[in-house]
Amino acid sequence: KSGFVSIIGRPNVGKSTLMNQIIGQKIAIMSDKPQTTRNKIHGVYTSGSGQIVFLDTPGIHKPTSKLGDYMSKVAHGTLGEVDAVLFLVDVVDGIGGGDRYIIEQLKLIETPVILVLNKIDMVQPEALLAVITNYKDLYDFAEIVPVSALKGNNVTTLLEQIIRYL
Ligand code: GDP
Ligand code: MG
Repeated sequence: KSGFVSIIGRPNVGKSTLMNQIIGQKIAIMSDKPQTTRNKIHGVYTSGSGQIVFLDTPGIHKPTSKLGDYMSKVAHGTLGEVDAVLFLVDVVDGIGGGDRYIIEQLKLIETPVILVLNKIDMVQPEALLAVITNYKDLYDFAEIVPVSALKGNNVTTLLEQIIRYL
């Protein structure tokens, strides 16, 4: 199986770290210039079970200018065309205004959204349950996968889940 996946999420939630973990240092650093191109390939993951093309979708954040508005339209177009959206959040920070804005945009598309709860190495397992409940109240996610992008915990499970939607 192969397909396209958009990675979205507020700054500093760990998007680049996750790409580094999945694909390797070089590619993620190369494409780590937000808000400059519309539909950049962040990286390509290939395994026996499938190939996943990860796309950077910079315009999903709250538009603050005409350019932001344009980027936002592009982002929504992109999100509607991919096989799945990975919505990364930071379990330490919890839900912020930026997350709520993104979730409003997600309600406009039909694409399955996988909620990736990142930085689980920073919290107790009990705390994770409360975070999951909070996000579940806001949107009906196709999957919810806790990971540590930094340590690599559960990243293989995440890849297996993604491949199901390609
Ligand atoms: P991006 O802006 O979404 O691309 O976020 P980055 O990948 O640049 O990560 C922002 C910061 O969070 C960096 O200091 C990372 O080392 C840190 N970080 C990312 N993932 C994790 C994680 O799973 N655990 C911990 N403890 N820190 C993380
Ligand atoms: Mg980044």
